[in-house]
Amino acid sequence: MRLQHVRVLGPTGLSAPQTVDVNAEGAEDRDATGLVLSPGWMDLHAHLREPGFPQKETLLSGATSAAVGGFTHVLAMANTDPVTDRAERLQSLLTRSQALPIRISFVGAVTIGLDGRQLTDAAALKAAGAMALSDDGRHAIDRVMFGHALDAAAAAGLPVLVHAQAEQLGDGPDAEAVAVTDALDALRDIRGARLHIQHVSTRRAVDLIRAAKSEGLPVTAEATPHHLALSSRDVWAMGPHGNVNPPLRSPDDRDALCEALVDGVIDVIATDHAPHELAAKQAGANGFHGFETAVGVILGLGFDGGTVYRACVSRPREILGQSLEDEWILIDPDAEWRVDGASFKSRGKNTPFQGRRLRGRVVMTVCRGQVVTERVMQHV
Ligand SMILES: [Zn+2]
Repeated sequence: MRLQHVRVLGPTGLSAPQTVDVNAEGAEDRDATGLVLSPGWMDLHAHLREPGFPQKETLLSGATSAAVGGFTHVLAMANTDPVTDRAERLQSLLTRSQALPIRISFVGAVTIGLDGRQLTDAAALKAAGAMALSDDGRHAIDRVMFGHALDAAAAAGLPVLVHAQAEQLGDGPDAEAVAVTDALDALRDIRGARLHIQHVSTRRAVDLIRAAKSEGLPVTAEATPHHLALSSRDVWAMGPHGNVNPPLRSPDDRDALCEALVDGVIDVIATDHAPHELAAKQAGANGFHGFETAVGVILGLGFDGGTVYRACVSRPREILGQSLEDEWILIDPDAEWRVDGASFKSRGKNTPFQGRRLRGRVVMTVCRGQVVTERVMQHV
């Protein structure tokens, strides 16, 4: 497919309009004036709910939703039923994911059943194709066990992704600071270990990670679009529909996350896509749909192109040692649209951006040289 007059998102930001040939079988050449071509985005943090929760999401509905949202590679968490805590389970998920429209990779659990008591077999999970280990969704593991986990993961050559929240302290800012401090202390002691802190939500955690990075510790971190864009002020009126873990914090915390993303203390934007059916949200379930609003929300934050490229394209892949393989998205950065969860391809309609107007939308997603979604352009 030949694109004319397209601007390309790269490490230094947006290029001038140019002609680009993209490997996209069957797609027609077009005048792409006003559009942006970006390598497909990678999401390091998503819950695809299969096996176990088809009322929330399946591998296929999740992958389709991610493609619509502009993600060509997604890392799926292990808190399914059963938990992805054995090599055979991970292997079978990976086999089934080959038929999906985009690339789906999987983490293996750190502990059996995510209960924090018995470590999984890191080497076997790695051999089965695990990209990382994480007990995300739980943080039941104690400091000593976490050290053992980092050790085993390091020996297997895998990073550990940690949902940094000391469970016994609830979901306040202290619970995040304590868990980040503990995880960094453990990291300091173990050669070869790599730690990635998931969904950082507070200024205190940002400061701890900044200090650890300047010390040279091999730690990386992510923030979600909702923690970057929203604060506690936006959700108080939403009742149970505003429930998310970690919760939306103060405007000052949100500002700290945005600053940290620009200066690189936070490496990655990851959605923590957590689809739920309506009844579960009404009953208080934590989590938001993330995929289909990500591009509009992130472009609306006003970061420069180089920062967006790093946070959504390059750093997620560097952290997992992945390369791009004919994965592209075409974005209309000026498309204005109103969010309506009912229109999502995901089974989870639980968006905190319901009814908001966003600017910026994915027009086409190409993965493995195939067009996997294409939106008919509407000029409204
Ligand atoms: Zn999560």
